[in-house]
Parts: sequence; structure tokens; C-alpha cells
Amino acid sequence: MRWLLFFGALIGSIYCKEIFNGHQVFQIKAQDENQINKLKDLVNMENFKLNFWKLPATPQRTVDILIPSTSLKPVRSFLESHGLEYSVSIEDLQALFDEEIKEMTYNRGKERSNGNFNYGAYHSLEEIYQEMDRIACHYPNLVSRLEIGHSFEKRPLYVLKFSTGQGKRPAIWLNTGIHAREWITHATGIWMARKIASDYGNEPNITSILDHMDIFLMPVVNPDGYVYTQTKNRIWRKTRSHIPGNKCVGVDPNRNWDVNFSGKGGSDDPCSEIYRGPNPFSEVEVKSVVDFIKSHGNFKSFIDIHSYSQLLMYPYGYTCSKAPDSEELDKVGRKAAKALFSLYNTEYRVGNICSTVYPASGSSIDWAYKNKIKYSFTFELRDTGHYGFLLPANQILPTAEETWLGLQAIMMHVKEHLY
Ligand SMILES: [Zn+2]
Repeated sequence: MRWLLFFGALIGSIYCKEIFNGHQVFQIKAQDENQINKLKDLVNMENFKLNFWKLPATPQRTVDILIPSTSLKPVRSFLESHGLEYSVSIEDLQALFDEEIKEMTYNRGKERSNGNFNYGAYHSLEEIYQEMDRIACHYPNLVSRLEIGHSFEKRPLYVLKFSTGQGKRPAIWLNTGIHAREWITHATGIWMARKIASDYGNEPNITSILDHMDIFLMPVVNPDGYVYTQTKNRIWRKTRSHIPGNKCVGVDPNRNWDVNFSGKGGSDDPCSEIYRGPNPFSEVEVKSVVDFIKSHGNFKSFIDIHSYSQLLMYPYGYTCSKAPDSEELDKVGRKAAKALFSLYNTEYRVGNICSTVYPASGSSIDWAYKNKIKYSFTFELRDTGHYGFLLPANQILPTAEETWLGLQAIMMHVKEHLY
């Protein structure tokens, strides 16, 4: 029976995978508002079956679009007829997917023979979960694994708790992997788990943070989506929930929070990539995090890590008006971006979500901020569009290392400004 299931899964993953042969990613630079509006028209042209990796926002920000091979010709003529400059950042998406799978398979073989988790490689959900267990095992006095609920498809939702004290101490929430295809974030999340554990008692900053506060880290907020990106469709973003009456699957878990829920920057179309869901917290993954944070009641910082674009942002997303603490948040954000830059000169833009990219309602950090978690930030990790969601594995370690410096700067500020 087990073998039958195994072969069934294998065949399923070979024959049911979406294929992206000859699909290309274009990077487009709009010169002015008029051209931005043309690109916004393109977003609504459903017959082209485009997938916007970076939506049109401001003229300074490039737009990345995944274009199926069958739509290449009409999209090119659309862009040319409106004088929009573009370059091809990915020539053949399937070739990059194949490369990624080849590397993962090779790495898996190596890990099996030497027994070590390679932090410079991408992993399956199961492998990440096993490594979380191993970290908790290696550092029993510091790390514990909590189960905070189950996903729509009944996978466990795990959080690692790093604590050197008793009771509900002031705490920092970190999560990665809320969007399924942003693999660099899952990889950075599990790397950070090991880093926090091994640095405690050895590195002064993290030692002093953990002497005063607890850290909760959730590397995979959306496990169903992550599994789906490895079995069916590498560029899946949303959850995998089936909502009665909807003709498409899934909800954008970063538009599903109870904060200005039906406002700008979310969609009520179940087939949209930014579908907000039928009601706030409809997604069990989001609800589980919210219930956990509320029942704890002493979080001082909430950090939600995404990719890509190299941005560090703070509230609000739902409105471009200033949050009461925006001056301080901006200062902390700039300090963090400077620390991040110091390692490999990776440049980040800092600002509130709404003015830095575009309005986004129902987002995680707006909810956290509205619920009195002052130090709420969101990262968009590497890169700026050369590989986009397909960031090669050889960039995992540099990305994780530099991000860590930025995070540490934020956490130190939180520790020194407890409220
Ligand atoms: Zn994201």
C-alpha cells in the first residue's frame, strides 16, 4: 500500500505539474503616470493569462510580468505600441525550474549521505520541519517547537520559540513563507532558526535580546501553498483553501487580516492573486497566527518576510497617510537597511507600504500595528527582478546573512525601547 501511494505521488508529480516551456519574464520600465496606466490596463487583459510578479506602482519601480509563450507576440506589440521599454529577464522559465529541481535532488542525495542539512539549498516542507525538530533537539534549554494549528489541508503549523525565561515575556514575532512561491524566505527562515540558537551565549546582541525577550519564529506560514509549488505549480502564491461557490482555489494570506478588509489593494475576485477571501481571517493559517498572538498578548514586534524587491516597509499599507509612529519606524528601518547593506552592498528602499509600492489592505503588519504591536515591519528580500521568485540557491546564504543584520538592528532597537 505504501509503495502504491509512493508511486501514485511520483506519477502525479510528473504528469500533473504545470509546464512553463518558453514562458518568459519581462521587466518593464514605465516613464510616467500615463505609461503606468497602460500597464494597469494590461493587468486587466485576462485573455493574455499574464502573471504579474511586480505590479505597476510608481514610475521608479520596474514591473515584472510572466508571459505564457502563446501571449508573447501580442504583449510585445502592446508594449511597443505604447512606447514601453522592456527587457527579457527570464528567457525560459521552465529551464530555471528544471535547474532548481536538479539542484534540490542532487543536494538531497548529498544530505542523505552526510546527514547534514545544507542551509545553502532549497528544501521540501518535510525537510524544513525535520530541521526545526533537530534544532529544538540540539538546544533543549533554549528552543521549543509549538504547534499552533493546522493548515486547510491539515498540515501542522509549527512555530519555534526561543526563550531563556519564564512566563509571557515581551516577544518578537518573525515569520517567513506566507506566500508560497517566495522560497528564499522559507530558506532564510530556517537559517535564522539555527543562527539564533547557535549565537545565543556567543554573540552579544542576540544574547542580550534573548536575555530580555522571547523570539517566536514561524518558517512556513502557508505549508499547503509551499507543497503545491513543489508538486504542481512553482509560481503559486496563495493558500489552497476551497471556498464553496468560488471557481478558483486559494486566498492571498496577506490580504486576509482584519484591518480595512475591503479597502484598496485587495480583490474580491476569487481568481485574483490578491483575493482577500470571503471574510477577514477566513484562512485557518492566518487565524492560527492571530489567535496565538492574541492569546500571548505581549508581542512588541511583528516582522513578516516576503520576496522580492529589496524593500523594508512599515505601516500603513491600506492608506498613504502617516502612521503615528512613522518617524521612529522610518529611523529604525533606515538603521536596519544600513546594517543589511554593510555586508554585501545590497540596497534596500525603506518606507511605508502604501507610498513605497501601492495600497494594500488587510495586510499582516497593518493588523499587528493596529493591535498595538508598534515595531511592525515587512521585508521584501532579494532580488529586484533578475531572477525574481527563482532566486538561485547560491544566493540563499548571502541573503540570509545580510537580512539577519537588518533584523538584528530592529530587534536591538525593540529591546532598548520596550513599552
Ligand atoms: Zn509575499
